[in-house]
Amino acid sequence: MIRPILRLGDPVLQAPAQPVADITPEIEHLIDDMVETMYAVPGIGLAAPQVGVSLRIFVIDLSVGRDRNGLVVMVNPTWQEREGMQLEEEGCLSLPGFTATVPRPARASVRGLNRQGEEHVVEGSELLARALQHEMDHLDGRLFVDRLRGIKRDLIVRKIKKLARSGKW
Ligand SMILES: [Zn+2]
Repeated sequence: MIRPILRLGDPVLQAPAQPVADITPEIEHLIDDMVETMYAVPGIGLAAPQVGVSLRIFVIDLSVGRDRNGLVVMVNPTWQEREGMQLEEEGCLSLPGFTATVPRPARASVRGLNRQGEEHVVEGSELLARALQHEMDHLDGRLFVDRLRGIKRDLIVRKIKKLARSGKW
C-alpha cells in the first residue's frame, strides 16, 4: 500500500524515532509499504517517520527498483563509520520542490537489521553515503534544511510557510 508522505511542518518529522522492539508481521508490512511508496514517488530513500511512523526504520534503493539487489532495508541502524566530506545538491520527499547543497560524509557504514531481522552492514561512498546520512538524520528528527546555515535554512522555511498559507503545501 502506498502511504502518504508527511511534509516539513509535521511534528513526527522532527521527533526522534523509537527503536523497533521486534520484527512482527506489522513491521514487515510497514517495510513493504515504505518500499512501495518510495518506488511510487519515485525516490531513492524513505524513513518511517516520513510516513508518520516514529520508528527507527529506513529503506534506500539508488536504482529505484530497477535492481532488486540494490534495496537496503535498515531496522534500528547504528553508525559503524563515517569518513571524509562531500558537498552535493540534495532533496527530500518531505520537502518536494526544494534542494540545497548539504555537507555529508564521503564514506559511511551503518549496521542494523534487515527485513528478516538478521544483522547486516551497509557501506557506501558518494550517493549511498549521502543517502545513509540523510535517512539516519530522519530517525533523529532532522531534515536536510537543519544541516544548512541559518540564512539558507530560513529562506526555504519562509517559502514553505508562504506555500502553506496559500494551501499549496
Ligand atoms: Zn528525506
